[in-house]
Amino acid sequence: MTPDDARLIAITSAVPREGKSLTSLCLARTLALSGSRVVLVDCDLRQRGASKLIGDRDVGIVEVVEQSVPVREALVHDPRSNLFILPASGKSVPYDLFSNPATDEVLRQLKDEGARLDGVYVCTHHPTEGAPPYRIACECRKPKPGMFRALERELGVSVVGAPYIGDRMSDVEAAEAVGARPMLVRTGTGAATVALLGTRRVPVFDDLAAAARSLLTVSR
Ligand SMILES: [Zn+2]
Repeated sequence: MTPDDARLIAITSAVPREGKSLTSLCLARTLALSGSRVVLVDCDLRQRGASKLIGDRDVGIVEVVEQSVPVREALVHDPRSNLFILPASGKSVPYDLFSNPATDEVLRQLKDEGARLDGVYVCTHHPTEGAPPYRIACECRKPKPGMFRALERELGVSVVGAPYIGDRMSDVEAAEAVGARPMLVRTGTGAATVALLGTRRVPVFDDLAAAARSLLTVSR
């Protein structure tokens, strides 16, 4: 592939574990074997699918973006295909590492439409993975209530009875733990979570829009 006939190829799927990483790695290797110079960049810092396929590394895209390691040192060479891979390394990450103009633009458009975003709460920690200071057993990782308590404190509101939409059992448990009202969507990991609900009475929606519509209907 030359710069003139470059193509944008999206490899995607509706749910995790359908083979995106393996497909990406195979396609990248095939392109490399056909003589192209190829770097596969794994930006999925949560799943790190492509990086796991080549084995864990100490440094990767996080260190490169943070400029603690030059990109040359973070690249992993696959000698059989001559493919280079920039892995997602083992660190947890401050959530704004990839904050970008596109996100800012979405927020700006929402504001123009009269929407108001009171806060964004993110847990950037993990109890066993990553490096300090992010590798800690924190109080904000769901199902622990830290993020709920923080927003109650900072916004001066109570989350008791408030709707909370998520796709994981940790979302359901976190909402129940603070007296909020969990709602589950089937998107993301939601379909698998529905099967784990057992006797819990949690309303389930096809997607975020459906959940939001039900809230608007009820509160009207
Ligand atoms: Zn946390």
